Amino acid sequence: MALIVQKYGGSSVGTVERIQAVAQRVIKTAKAGNQLVVVVSAMGKTTDGLVKLAQEISPNPSRREMDMLLSTGEQISIALLSMALQELGQPAISLTGAQVGIVTEAEHTRARILNIQTERIERQIEQGKVVVVAGFQGISNTTDLEITTLGRGGSDTSAVALAAALRANRCEIYTDVPGIFTTDPRLVPNAQLMAEITCDEMLELASLGAKVLHPRAVEIARNYAVPLVVLSSWTEDKGTLVTSPPRVGRPVEGLELVYPVDAIEFDTDQAKVSLLRVPDRPGIAARLFGEIGRCNLDVDLIIQSIHELNTNDIAFTVTKNTLNSAEAVASAIAPTLRSQPSAAEEAEVLVERNIAKVSIAGAGMIGRPGVAAQMFQALADAEVNILMISTSEVKVSCVVEAERIDQAISALCKSFDLSTSPIVGSQPPSPPLIASPPSPPVRGVALDMKQARLAIRHIPDRPGMAAKIFVLLAQKNISVDMIIQSQRCHIINGLPTRDIAFTVARTDAEDARKILEPLAAELGCAEVVVDTAIAKVSVVGSGMINHPGVAAQMFDALAKEKINIQMIATSEIKISCVVDEQSGVKALQVIHEAFELAGTTKIEVPA
Ligand code: ADP
Ligand code: ASP
Ligand code: MG
Repeated sequence: MALIVQKYGGSSVGTVERIQAVAQRVIKTAKAGNQLVVVVSAMGKTTDGLVKLAQEISPNPSRREMDMLLSTGEQISIALLSMALQELGQPAISLTGAQVGIVTEAEHTRARILNIQTERIERQIEQGKVVVVAGFQGISNTTDLEITTLGRGGSDTSAVALAAALRANRCEIYTDVPGIFTTDPRLVPNAQLMAEITCDEMLELASLGAKVLHPRAVEIARNYAVPLVVLSSWTEDKGTLVTSPPRVGRPVEGLELVYPVDAIEFDTDQAKVSLLRVPDRPGIAARLFGEIGRCNLDVDLIIQSIHELNTNDIAFTVTKNTLNSAEAVASAIAPTLRSQPSAAEEAEVLVERNIAKVSIAGAGMIGRPGVAAQMFQALADAEVNILMISTSEVKVSCVVEAERIDQAISALCKSFDLSTSPIVGSQPPSPPLIASPPSPPVRGVALDMKQARLAIRHIPDRPGMAAKIFVLLAQKNISVDMIIQSQRCHIINGLPTRDIAFTVARTDAEDARKILEPLAAELGCAEVVVDTAIAKVSVVGSGMINHPGVAAQMFDALAKEKINIQMIATSEIKISCVVDEQSGVKALQVIHEAFELAGTTKIEVPA
């Protein structure tokens, strides 16, 4: 007999008929001899409807009242599903998050789960009942027992957290598509279903906009090695297995508040090539990295900062022994890169041999803006200047001067309390859990149309500036993504300055601007620029490590479509480009096509 946690999303319980169909499916699993906990979302678009109602009353309602309102959606669907089960002769009981004891921190609308009391559920299961639990909600750990919600899409997180706490044999996420696809099948109808995907890859995809799974659910599955499957509530298909590395029994206390950083990694075998003042038009990155790829040079980090007038800067890192070849490629191409064919000034190539990369890594940093900020602060306190920053949801890497690497590592170990944990030099990623044929370098493509870009111009180039900016944003709980420092130095009043650009959730953009403007003035920076009409398109795959040419292929697909790249940021297993909002969907489609991810079957997605 297995204990299974099943989760049914909004569209799976959107009507009475759908709820009855779910009840049939649940009973089938129970009749097969399994114990069941079923987590449900609110019916259909109920939560969106409630948000709309609130907005008709107040443009900025209190977070507490939003939780009171939004948590009602799930209370309806648990009662109805429980009734449907009882009607079919299956003993069942519905429980709210508070009744179960899903204890969260007291952060309304974005609470993290601290622990789950399992006694009541276990008692009901022992009595032969199916326990139907409201997803997305919990109860605060304060004496006032406040109702909290976990953030939109949070029912996935409730389900995986319950599976971890109950040590369930499996967690099944039922949704309106047959599993995880190479990209959103609503935007690319010939996207292909994946039989399995690693947690690391899914974490990137989920946080880069693939809403089929909530990233925090993937994080918990990874931390507690919960066997996780995503499948359709409409069909009998096998779905997609999300694989995680084995874990030795972690305590379920502080569930979502484990150490945010698991490891400090460093790599001293790095050198940097920058091209300054390359023209800001489609095809430049494609040409440069196409040439680099043809020479079989493996590039690690790539960043392209936002444009200034009509040019921008591109920088990338390679291993030290390939620096000369990389420099030669860059120098050969530079004279052909002029903002206008007749312009006198060509792109300038800069090379830095004495650099090193230091990274903090851990699945627990998702949605916790304070973690990156803490890294920048620790480096600032140790007077380590940051030359390049590259971020992903589970890793923040900084390129620093090689002679400061020891100070950087010890400052980070101290700051993140990792003195006893292994510090790892760069190493190949762990092999996937399930032996399968070598996977293509790119597994999936994601589009995020909910981001905005901010830039602060002319920030003094000295240690501590990134820390000041990102600590301030973190204090206001604004998560930052894709942080990019320009390579170009501007001398303002005799002092070198650089620009920093980054992306935030569009809903946070105005707040971020208001918070940063006084700081920019205080630090003597120029203006804070906001652009909300952007889209971020990303490719993800563990196989892209040591696989030159992936970046070039992505840039080339965009160039052929004449889509201009506004920003580039990479981590080990992803490459993200910011493009203008209107090109977002097209960019996704052409990149998906370029990596030959399309299948022959077209999937019909329920409306
Ligand atoms: P639920 O209500 O079941 O939680 P969601 O709407 O939150 O469902 O998530 C399912 C949707 O995620 C799909 O309908 C699909 O449009 C979208 N999606 C985005 N990226 C992907 C992907 N890579 N694979 C599958 N679905 C995706
Ligand atoms: N009902 C909530 C939402 O729409 C939670 C969920 O469906 O996962 O965001
Ligand atoms: Mg969802």
